[in-house]
Amino acid sequence: MTTRVWDYLSEYENERDDLLDAVETVFGSGQLVLGASVAGFEAEFAGRHGLDHCVGVDNGTNAVALGLEALGVGPGDEVITVSNTAAPTVVAIDAVGATPVFVDVREDDFLMDTDRLAAAVTDRTRAIVPVHLYGQCVDMDPVLRVARAHDLTVLEDCAQAHGARYHGRTAGTMGAAAAFSFYPTKVLGAYGDGGAVITDSAETDRALRRLRYYGMEDAYYVVSTPGHNSRLDEVQAEILRRKLTRLDAYIEGRRRVARRYEEALRDIAVDGGLMLPRTRPGNEHVYYLYVVRHPRRDLVLEELRRRDISLNVSYPWPVHTMEGFRHLGQSEGSLAVTERLAAEIFSLPMYPSLPEDRQDHVIESLREVLAKL
Ligand SMILES: *Cc1c(COP(=O)(O)O)cnc(C)c1O
Repeated sequence: MTTRVWDYLSEYENERDDLLDAVETVFGSGQLVLGASVAGFEAEFAGRHGLDHCVGVDNGTNAVALGLEALGVGPGDEVITVSNTAAPTVVAIDAVGATPVFVDVREDDFLMDTDRLAAAVTDRTRAIVPVHLYGQCVDMDPVLRVARAHDLTVLEDCAQAHGARYHGRTAGTMGAAAAFSFYPTKVLGAYGDGGAVITDSAETDRALRRLRYYGMEDAYYVVSTPGHNSRLDEVQAEILRRKLTRLDAYIEGRRRVARRYEEALRDIAVDGGLMLPRTRPGNEHVYYLYVVRHPRRDLVLEELRRRDISLNVSYPWPVHTMEGFRHLGQSEGSLAVTERLAAEIFSLPMYPSLPEDRQDHVIESLREVLAKL
């Protein structure tokens, strides 16, 4: 039996009645698009973050893109982010016509190196997109300081950080707006695609509602400025409402899995060998991914695959080295830490319902493989 890095079928089995009831609720409601479930989810998701506004959209990529557009970012603007992220962060910046500018990440937590931010600011910089990667927050105080000093807007990419905290503040409540993905693998995952943008600004909320709905103001069938069709699906919204009530339990489940890895691997984690995830002081990690590092990663992966364990690398190709972004001119070699990491990191299986015997198999196999290296 293959141990998968992620799987939803056991969750589906446990939650089946509730999930199918969510589908039934929408199908029987008489309104299949932008109905009570989207409105209800938006209110509940905003409320969970202590904010007044949430706008559901069709996926996380468009949450980033529409978020930027609503904040006034567009052609000619530069947006500072990282290359060690899921490509969609950067695809979304490109989609609004802005130019992505990458800063390197830190050796210890693989997140945006905020010491490098100020040097990346130019006359054209308009925004910073910090990515709360793998489930923990970027060091936001310096981000906000640089943004204030240079009059930049901040859009948090929270696609991997539902419920994560930074010195008591929840991911998504620190910037001008925040983008979430509800792709099935995420900490809060739909049974299909979904996304949302949260903000405390009524004006940004209004812009987002217009942008996701062709560019029409809700009440009038008239396009003010052309927008998009990026609505959150009503069925996914109802499923997300149900799952939102269990978000804390999902996070606790992920932390339990992370604790078991930590306890079982701590003694073999040494400098220059296996490195376990490090949580920044002040951070509460939600472990979207459990990313470890080893200098002989490819060899370790090969050995583990032979033991029927499927593992992911997030991410094997830094965005700035991808063909589609070469024109940005950030050549290979320009982001040394990001590039080194890409060759050394890999993710151990992580999801709340990961069976303990499967996890034990991963732990034992990893210990065995590393002992033989
Ligand atoms: C998943 C993800 C996205 C994109 O979300 P989709 O819903 O797949 O479009 C954006 N940014 C990050 C960091 C992600 O992990």
